[in-house]
Amino acid sequence: MHPFALTRADDPAQAIAAHTVDHRLAFIAGGTDLLGLIKDRAELPERLLDINGLPNMAEIDALPEGGLRIGALARMSDVAADMEVRRRFPVVVEALLFAASGQLRNMASIGGNIMQRTRCAYFRDETDGRCNKRSPGSGCAALHGLNRNHAIFGWSESCVATNPSDLAVALAAMDAIVIVRGQAGERRIPFRDFHRLPGSTPERDNILDRGDLIVAVEVPANMEARASHYLKVRDRASYEFALVSAAAAVATEDRRRIRSARLAMGGVAHKPWRLTAAESALRGISLDDIDGLRSAIAVSFLDARPLAHNAFKIELAQRAALRALQTAGARL
Ligand SMILES: Cc1cc2nc3c(=O)[nH]c(=O)nc-3n(C[C@H](O)[C@H](O)[C@H](O)COP(=O)(O)OP(=O)(O)OC[C@H]3O[C@@H](n4cnc5c(N)ncnc54)[C@H](O)[C@@H]3O)c2cc1C
Ligand code: SF4
Repeated sequence: MHPFALTRADDPAQAIAAHTVDHRLAFIAGGTDLLGLIKDRAELPERLLDINGLPNMAEIDALPEGGLRIGALARMSDVAADMEVRRRFPVVVEALLFAASGQLRNMASIGGNIMQRTRCAYFRDETDGRCNKRSPGSGCAALHGLNRNHAIFGWSESCVATNPSDLAVALAAMDAIVIVRGQAGERRIPFRDFHRLPGSTPERDNILDRGDLIVAVEVPANMEARASHYLKVRDRASYEFALVSAAAAVATEDRRRIRSARLAMGGVAHKPWRLTAAESALRGISLDDIDGLRSAIAVSFLDARPLAHNAFKIELAQRAALRALQTAGARL
């Protein structure tokens, strides 16, 4: 095990200042991803700053207009059990409960969850093979290697990895906002802008800079959220990352006709992938018109680019999106 020094932070400004100047320092919350990355030698920080003692970062607040503010240090299990979260955003609760295991969810924080790194086996391989995310410039072993679990959208020659977070898919569908405090004060980042596509710099998963501390995630109220669902397709029924997943939410008019829909997919790209073209195409279609729903969803897959081993994801993802939408619709 790579050795590190552990200290505890009790003042946000000091934590941010320390992280800004010290490039060998990492924040640690639950440690469920970071310690694995250290064991795999994918990250080798010399100093860990435990942020669990920072004030006002673990609350779950129901906002008056119907939204939520979830502190970055709130535990996944606490958020999933919160009655207001369950009532207002079923898709968020389901994404949390389908993730990891009970023990992990008791430790794992919301901030850490959206910061977790890819499960690409080459990236996690401690023998240090070719991986641009791990060692920039070394190549991408997955591009022409084992890429069954990898991206079908938005990948580059530099990296074809997917983002493993279930929660991030639900938050993308809900247009959540990540609240970050940094050297220049607090800023609000729309969830769709938080994670990056790999481009030529896949070592960067998201847009955060040194010194940036996630303090909370805000989920604004929306008319689709009450009829929402998260569907996760995986190789075994529990304790497994998604092969593909779909977060869906829907509002209707004239009985079963779709007024607006939200659809985001996991397991298909370097970031949660919103199906915006399908969302537009779904407007006006009846939830009972299966062929119509299927055709509308297909619009978002016209630009899918499969790799050698994952073309099956194109059909699987469309079926998952359809099923998630139907299940969400059944909650109206
Ligand atoms: C066996 C296993 C199975 C899993 N299965 C799933 C799954 O199916 N679905 C799923 O979504 N996840 C899964 N996970 C991942 C798990 O959900 C994450 O490890 C967890 O959410 C990370 O939270 P943490 O608090 O432990 O983060 P840490 O490990 O403490 O931190 C992770 C990263 O986030 C940074 N960080 C943490 N908090 C902040 C903050 N407030 N501001 C800025 N940076 C911060 C840390 O510096 C670090 O880089 C699994 C993990 C394991 C080990
Ligand atoms: S897909 Fe990305 S993470 Fe995986 S080997 Fe290629 S560069 Fe590394």
